[in-house]
Amino acid sequence: PNAPQPPTTAFAAPGPDDHRTPLPAATIVGYPRIGPDRELKKAEEAYWAGRIDRAELDRRTTALRAATRDRLVGLGLDQPAAIPETFSLYDQVLDAAVTVGAIPSRFADVLAETGIVDADGYFTLARGDAERPPLEMTKWFDTNYHYLVPEIGPGTDLHLASTQVIDLFTEAREAGVTTRPVLVGPLTLLLLAKAEDDAPEGFTPLDRLDDVVTVYAELLQRLAAAGAPWVQLDEPILATDLGLTADELAEALRRSIGRLASGPATQSGPAEPAASALGTPGARPQILVTTPYGGIGDALPALLATGVDAVHLDLTRGDLPTTEQLAGIGRTALVAGLVEGRTVWRTELPTAAARLDALRDRVRSAGGDPAAVTAATSVSLQHVPHSLDRETALDPALRATLAFADEKVAEVVSLAGGDVAPGDVDGPRSVVRDFPGVRDRAVRDRVAALGADAGRRAPFAERQAAQDEALHLPLLPTTTIGSFPQTAEVRRARADHRAGRLDEAGYREAMRAEIDRVIALQEELGLDVLVHGEAERNDMVQYFAEHLDGFVVTEHGWVQSYGSRCTRPSILFGDVSRPEAITVAWSQYAQSLTDKPVKGMLTGPVTILAWSFVRDDQPLADTATQVALALRDEIADLEAAGIGIVQVDEPALRELLPLRRAEQDAYLRWSVESFRVATAGATAATQIHTHLCYSEFNEVIDAIDGLDADVTSIESARSRGEVVDAIDPARFERGIGPGVWDIHSPRVPGTEEIVELLRHAEQRIGARRLWANPDCGLKTRGYAETEASLRHLVDATRQVREEV
Ligand code: GLN
Ligand code: ZN
Repeated sequence: PNAPQPPTTAFAAPGPDDHRTPLPAATIVGYPRIGPDRELKKAEEAYWAGRIDRAELDRRTTALRAATRDRLVGLGLDQPAAIPETFSLYDQVLDAAVTVGAIPSRFADVLAETGIVDADGYFTLARGDAERPPLEMTKWFDTNYHYLVPEIGPGTDLHLASTQVIDLFTEAREAGVTTRPVLVGPLTLLLLAKAEDDAPEGFTPLDRLDDVVTVYAELLQRLAAAGAPWVQLDEPILATDLGLTADELAEALRRSIGRLASGPATQSGPAEPAASALGTPGARPQILVTTPYGGIGDALPALLATGVDAVHLDLTRGDLPTTEQLAGIGRTALVAGLVEGRTVWRTELPTAAARLDALRDRVRSAGGDPAAVTAATSVSLQHVPHSLDRETALDPALRATLAFADEKVAEVVSLAGGDVAPGDVDGPRSVVRDFPGVRDRAVRDRVAALGADAGRRAPFAERQAAQDEALHLPLLPTTTIGSFPQTAEVRRARADHRAGRLDEAGYREAMRAEIDRVIALQEELGLDVLVHGEAERNDMVQYFAEHLDGFVVTEHGWVQSYGSRCTRPSILFGDVSRPEAITVAWSQYAQSLTDKPVKGMLTGPVTILAWSFVRDDQPLADTATQVALALRDEIADLEAAGIGIVQVDEPALRELLPLRRAEQDAYLRWSVESFRVATAGATAATQIHTHLCYSEFNEVIDAIDGLDADVTSIESARSRGEVVDAIDPARFERGIGPGVWDIHSPRVPGTEEIVELLRHAEQRIGARRLWANPDCGLKTRGYAETEASLRHLVDATRQVREEV
């Protein structure tokens, strides 16, 4: 209320002599920035380790951007503003936060005297330093990409604190390419941000909307001065349920996008020298607002009402807008996200072309310009690998159904060029996914034969009695989450084995030696439920993908997970089955070394789907059931081999939760059911554990209950036990292990600190169902801190046991 009212300058309706640069017929929302050979990762890690200097880092990242532009121009994005500049040194949300000066006060020193953040300051925010934790990291919408959470308070000095967006535009311009600068938009930035720690009760970052928009306005003016005809503001937050009324949403859009779009756009874009336009009041590039990751439904009329120059829609997840929703289109151009940017499947182009035609018809009926409809991707291509070119080992029939980033750019270009006959679904441009492995009769028959009670175990009371009898665990049992530190020798043995330098017998010996060490250590530490340590696993999903039918793994299919971290998701293309036991020999060997129970270790169906590229020719639920049945067989084999406890990890359960509440129930139903199908074959005496790795789990608490696992371990140490407070002991009767050691940092927790956490948990949920364990697996930790921390954990548990 006391905030200044935004200027209300009307959008100057352009006349017939309007020479503004139109959006080209084809574009994309964004492109991978890691480089086909992970050049970005390599350059940054070398810089952080001090092996190269700043000049060399700049040289390499500049070369990477140049190569990306050349590639995209070559693929047909050769018009001005066709290429979005989505390079980032670490994360696009951090880029936006730094651009507007959203620097938490603990990092005030990264703002040099000039008020500008340089690359070193930027990396400090992203990675922290010896004294200060970095910005928190969390998942970007329903993807496996992680962004840094901006922190904003009432006193944050919002100002233009980075000129990177302008510099990158100029760099490309000087190389002869007019790009489209991209920034996360003001609403998404503020709604993803959290209030700074010392902010007063009731403050939310959105309270700073007008101040943030002022900085965006200044940036836009500077971009116009630099000659940018277009700028892209990403507002994926519009694809989520914001909890705002229609009026509140319209008001937020008016105050942000509406205000930015209120001045006249620059005429004819690029020609003028930078200095002359600087300071021209109101001069701005044309604005494209993108809305990836889902449909925006009724936010569209409000967005059109802002007078923005172009709106992008995700039409792979969202429906075509209706003529009524388009009623206010006026001169706003539409960007049709018809090529799915987050899967690796080729687009059914005739279908996409038919939808593009249908959209043009609706735009025409709504009084808009059907020629001003651009073909595009649904989301940034940052979620898919660079190019199929190098995947030479793939089966040609499978390969013909795939499209990575470059192939998707080509799809957009051919859609835009009209070289696909709409609706010709049997024609040469359509995708036939029918080759050996896609459909497996035996798998389908088995799924069809599953009865309604396929996911039911004996009642918990009966299981508990049988497990007490079988396992003889002490009160407050201690355990770990599965993996132990992956030492250089372990990694080397795996690599040598993969490359053929180490034969099967030598490899087995190396892994057994590692299991010997890990079991001996756990016995010496006095843990109650042991693990074999997962030394044989490169990755908790890829390991299973490599051993199941229906998957292929790529050679170079890297995608960015966060910062310099990349993952190489497997491709689940066909019906899933388990040709032979996967983990049994390792678990059995570990069990042969000890009298303590060894916990078998599997990855759950939802996590296997979430961290792979999954076929989209059948519902995810059906694919999940197939994976679940393969895991069910594995559990049966583990039981037969004498393993009495099996953990089925589902760290990604929350990640796949749909962004729209209306779709969440259906998701939770099938995801929970798939876990139950996987575990329901276990006898009452077999103790089933699960592990979830996130602390904000309120939305999924019913689902966690529904998994019906005998023991659930959850991340909790960083949130100081808040998870425990969220659990209603009257409802959640089964075992629970709130993590009491934050394994995400090398810090060793003191015994007293663990005692406190355990006491707190004990008071809340009682000793009978409480377990003591770390937050997550230990594979990224070193042995020194692992040993010390586990020793403290065991000591603390013994102390608390005495007290109860
Ligand atoms: N069992 C896995 C491990 O210990 C679990 C990892 C995870 O939750 N992400 O590494
Ligand atoms: Zn975890």
